[in-house]
Amino acid sequence: MLGYPEMLDIAAQYINLSEGEYLKLKNPLANINANLTFKLENGETVFVPTYLTIMNEVGPGKGGLRIHKSVTAEEVQALAGLMEIKNRITELPFSGAKAGICIDTEKLTRTDYDKLIFLWAEVYKPILVPRNKMYYYITACDVNSRPWMMSKIVRYMGDYQCATSKDPLDGGIKGRPPATGFGVANITRYYYKEILQESLKGKTVGIQGFGNVGSYTADYLYKWGAKILAITDLYGGVYDENGINVPELLKYVEKSKNNSVVGFKDEYNNELLFSSEFDVLIPAALEDQITEKNANDIKSKLIVSAANGPITIKAQEILTNNCIDIIPGIANAGGVIASNFELMNAGDPQVVRIEDVQEYINKKQISNFKDIINLSKELKTNLFIAEIVLAIKRRLDILRAVGF
Ligand code: NAD
Repeated sequence: MLGYPEMLDIAAQYINLSEGEYLKLKNPLANINANLTFKLENGETVFVPTYLTIMNEVGPGKGGLRIHKSVTAEEVQALAGLMEIKNRITELPFSGAKAGICIDTEKLTRTDYDKLIFLWAEVYKPILVPRNKMYYYITACDVNSRPWMMSKIVRYMGDYQCATSKDPLDGGIKGRPPATGFGVANITRYYYKEILQESLKGKTVGIQGFGNVGSYTADYLYKWGAKILAITDLYGGVYDENGINVPELLKYVEKSKNNSVVGFKDEYNNELLFSSEFDVLIPAALEDQITEKNANDIKSKLIVSAANGPITIKAQEILTNNCIDIIPGIANAGGVIASNFELMNAGDPQVVRIEDVQEYINKKQISNFKDIINLSKELKTNLFIAEIVLAIKRRLDILRAVGF
């Protein structure tokens, strides 16, 4: 996966860094590992490694909690690095951070999840309690972690500010669940309107992933007139040459096996998705989905990074050589921007309207996207590289102002 040291090396080609600055930027402030061992409802005892990385002391660490059987310390560090880039390009008062729990979620019942979240919160309590505002971690949803778990965490801790993306009836805000998908759709619409001076209406779209991010992205793009031709998920995919009816698909998925899209329309898969021609291709599932192995197959004109780190460094070079545009991580920053809004309104979440959250996302996302576009013109590079350089430049400005 695209690691922070790798991104720093890219930025260092454009910015002069002293040896000390390079070292300070390269190494995370904290890597924490805690092991949980507990009994599942079925009687099996599981050993569960957990990890947390906080990149620096710019503010409290912010980045979601990933629960997945493939979670490793390296993955958590890389994802924290991506959050660091995202927090800098959105100018939010947070350090990049990420937490991970390595467990096979297919084994877990609701009771097991309750136990897991309780044990995780117990062990990370000293960091979750906002005693020292700089060095603590504010958690949020990521792959397989859900708003009700965030609600549980703030209840255990007795503090609304320990977690964001909580249930709206439990200290969260109404605009948080759709925030990332709204941001992905919003930046795509902006790109067509302001950069290409074209309408989004009728543009064809292929999406990988139909979880939180993929489903809301599809829903907004559908509402705004785009034609969603294909959607894949972990279990397969669907295709409709006339365009998928997304509201109907959402109803279907609620009741389907594994909440999958499979069976709603003609069968489809990732290989077809990454080799067919769409106006917009949206990886919204996992990292490292577009690599040097499949980048040359891609015929879509624009790729919007809805997932964290879906395109590798080598792949972005190939895509750029093949004249395929990429909207980088700023595309999926709607969630962390909304999380900041949630924290600013902690304790009074009921007054927040979805429109207020979306206006805040739009303002932060688009003004910073313009900065990325301007830097890419100045450096004569693509948006993917310009985003990395801008983020590191902003981090360096803080470092130089404060010293170390
Ligand atoms: P999720 O768990 O809600 O959904 C993930 C989706 O991807 C599911 O539909 C799953 O079936 C699908 N999927 C998994 N493996 C797949 C595969 N091999 N092929 C096709 N589909 C596959 O997760 P999410 O919250 O939607 O997050 C998706 C991505 O977006 C992750 O990279 C996450 O880090 C990133 N992200 C999430 C948020 C957020 O607010 N949730 C914010 C920014 C970035």
